[in-house]
Amino acid sequence: MSSLNATHNPQLRSWVSSANLPEQHFPIQNLPFGVFHTAGLAAHVGVAIGDMILDLAELQQAGLLSLPVEGAAVLVASSLNGLIELGAPVWNSVRGQLSALLAADNPLLRDDAALRARVLVSQQAATMLLPVTIGGYTDFYSSKEHATNVGCMFRDPKNALLPNWLEIPIGYNGRASSVIVSDTPVRRPNGQTKSPTRERPEFGPCKKLDIELETGFIIGRGNALGEPIACQDAEQHIFGMVLLNDWSARDIQTWEYVPLGPFNSKTFATTISPWVVTMEALAPFRVPTPCQEPAPLPYLQHQPGVNYGIDLQLEVTLTPELSQQSSTICRSNFRHMYWSMAQQLTHHTSSGCNTRVGDLMGSGTISGLTPDSCGSLLELTWNGANPLTLADGSMRSFILDGDELTITGWAQAADYRVGFGVCRGKILPALKM
Ligand code: MN
Repeated sequence: MSSLNATHNPQLRSWVSSANLPEQHFPIQNLPFGVFHTAGLAAHVGVAIGDMILDLAELQQAGLLSLPVEGAAVLVASSLNGLIELGAPVWNSVRGQLSALLAADNPLLRDDAALRARVLVSQQAATMLLPVTIGGYTDFYSSKEHATNVGCMFRDPKNALLPNWLEIPIGYNGRASSVIVSDTPVRRPNGQTKSPTRERPEFGPCKKLDIELETGFIIGRGNALGEPIACQDAEQHIFGMVLLNDWSARDIQTWEYVPLGPFNSKTFATTISPWVVTMEALAPFRVPTPCQEPAPLPYLQHQPGVNYGIDLQLEVTLTPELSQQSSTICRSNFRHMYWSMAQQLTHHTSSGCNTRVGDLMGSGTISGLTPDSCGSLLELTWNGANPLTLADGSMRSFILDGDELTITGWAQAADYRVGFGVCRGKILPALKM
């Protein structure tokens, strides 16, 4: 686990004044990494500060950022993988250097207008790219509330959790090629569905398109094939976290998922937020995970006295194309997750499965204890039985074409928040096939 240091000082303020507004997501205590480009220029690695991006490639060229390698190699890059490969001491050193450089009382960059113009880019003027090259994507199913709701709906309310659920962080191998960055439109998938009243399935546009409110973590240090990661070491293999929408075609999923799990109902798109919030930035917000009963098998046990959860507030809004009126449809919190990221990664590699820098692990749908904290429309509308009424008066059981779904999330301190920005996608009509 990351320990607290000078970069976490709650009194810190930046000379980038927008970073000091209490409800904005990127104060000097956050410093998340991303990849961006501006018109006509190559992609660079940057760090968000207020409504600006600090261009690390330009900063290094100007001699204000020290790295153990030639900066161009990892900072003029279309992914963070090269920087992450340099290891945790380097990411943490970069964070420390940026924190000092951006601090309100440091005149070095603050008072040099020409240099500022070179290294600071307005977020509005930049296009964010997928932050990492993702070799493998795994999605878990680790919210007890979500698994219970789904089990009640489709199986037996008295035995909602399958017997393995309390013993294994259940997961499946997802599709890395269709992980996209926020604001990439999502095409409604076509697929096979089977009505109980018909003999054969049909092929056509999904009629039950849904979200899954999730977070994802990015592998920062891989493990070799055949060499499992021990639970007490697992967090050292995590670079940071993103918001994740695991778009799901429920009608396609219902027909296809037996016996090997979801396939085309999930493979068409997974959206992540562009800024990767480091585990170090999240260190002040650690909380205990829910009590686990029965106690997990020894290889999955946490170190006593260490907090493996994170107090991370999450919200989902739906904005119809015509009215442009946003409705908040869900408020949840990552702290409800039954299985921790450390347990997920430990279990994943316990077979000897290797992971690589940039691999993405989805948390599973993050549902809470109250009806409005369900992280999917499947649960919020109870499979369409109780449609939601939106701010513009329209009703939703599942997502309609033109709807824009936005996940946002942040960890709240007394007078600032370490935020993730947004994870957003708008649904385009299905292609005619
Ligand atoms: Mn999922």
